Amino acid sequence: MRFGLTCRSCGRTMPFRPGSTRCPCGGAVRVEYDLERIAAGLSRERLKEREATMWRYAELLPVADPRRIVSLGEGWTPLVRLHHAERMLGLRGLWVKREEQNPTGSFKARGFSCALTVARGAGIRKVAVNSNGNAGSALAAYAARAGMEAYVFLPKDCPGLIVRECLDYGAHTCLVDGLIHNAGELIARGAEEQGWHHVGTLREHGRAEGKKTMGLELAEQLGWRLPDVIIYPTGGGSGIIGMWNAFHQMKELGWIEGDLPRFICVQEEGCDPLVRSFSAGGAFRPLEGGTGASPTGLRVPHPPDGEALLDILRRTSGAAVAVTREEMREGRAAFGRHGISASPEGAAAWAALIHLRDAGAIRPRDEVVLFNTAHALKYADHPAPPVPVVRDYDDWRKTAAGA
Ligand SMILES: *Cc1c(COP(=O)(O)O)cnc(C)c1O
Ligand SMILES: [Zn+2]
Repeated sequence: MRFGLTCRSCGRTMPFRPGSTRCPCGGAVRVEYDLERIAAGLSRERLKEREATMWRYAELLPVADPRRIVSLGEGWTPLVRLHHAERMLGLRGLWVKREEQNPTGSFKARGFSCALTVARGAGIRKVAVNSNGNAGSALAAYAARAGMEAYVFLPKDCPGLIVRECLDYGAHTCLVDGLIHNAGELIARGAEEQGWHHVGTLREHGRAEGKKTMGLELAEQLGWRLPDVIIYPTGGGSGIIGMWNAFHQMKELGWIEGDLPRFICVQEEGCDPLVRSFSAGGAFRPLEGGTGASPTGLRVPHPPDGEALLDILRRTSGAAVAVTREEMREGRAAFGRHGISASPEGAAAWAALIHLRDAGAIRPRDEVVLFNTAHALKYADHPAPPVPVVRDYDDWRKTAAGA
């Protein structure tokens, strides 16, 4: 096989199975590829002939048969250089990765294209996700494409247009009186009884593996180099973990060399567990509460693998920055002045750039890439369509029985 699973604690290897994220020893498992074999068949040169989607890197994704992928044309998003802004801010280079150009208007499309390809290959019919919004609509769209049934659970203050989008793609859509992890608890409780395959953050390898392609594209689009700094609006952090894996795999393939970029994670004040844990300097601590932040992809008080994220930030001499709602508004206006319409999360990346440049942590010789992770218009004021609001799984069961 071209890929399999390896335990991070005991080193045991096992065949790839969807949803299998734990070793019998309790350790976390990760996908590993036979990079020697891949290098023999794939080169940087050969990639040039490939299609302009993330599936140009099919050999580096955990999919046995690349002819049977669930795709809506995701990935290979533009990397736009902001010449004027880089002169104004005194940087050697500044780019924005326009992830809002993906199907469903966010980078979540990458993870679900891969995760649902894996799930469909395994004969799975019903998929469920807890989400702040964009993972929900991405699941809904890709499930529709794959002919699967989708169940989406969103916090009840989720932007109305995103709820609308989930319904448009035909997902069973429900609001939960709580935050994203409460919605996740609901799915975990009902998974067995309902036959749901849980595709929440880091529960299905396809999610982080799909997002890995952002790192592959970054290198290829920059001419097989990496920037000095990546500023990434972070919730569960699967994109950081994915890109980190991508960078290591490209090094082993001999596609890139040199230091890895400093990863900067950005969160909003009011829900910033990574920022707090990073500055406290010890182990990762999830946040109790978290309702103080806006309903965006950054509001994740209990990221499932916070420890791995801290480790990546520390190893790359990165940082974690909290920004205010007001700074996010300013970030949005600043992006707008350069012709980019940014989501609140993308705007947070701009705000973090300003913080770190003022603090001297980003220096004039640095090349910086910002991620605009979703389309601004998904957050436009729009009343949510009428969908059930539930407290927990038992409540959902009663509602579903009545519907
Ligand atoms: C999900 C999401 C994030 C956070 O991504 P992670 O990789 O889970 O940290 C950031 N921005 C937007 C728009 C999102 O939808
Ligand atoms: Zn193990």
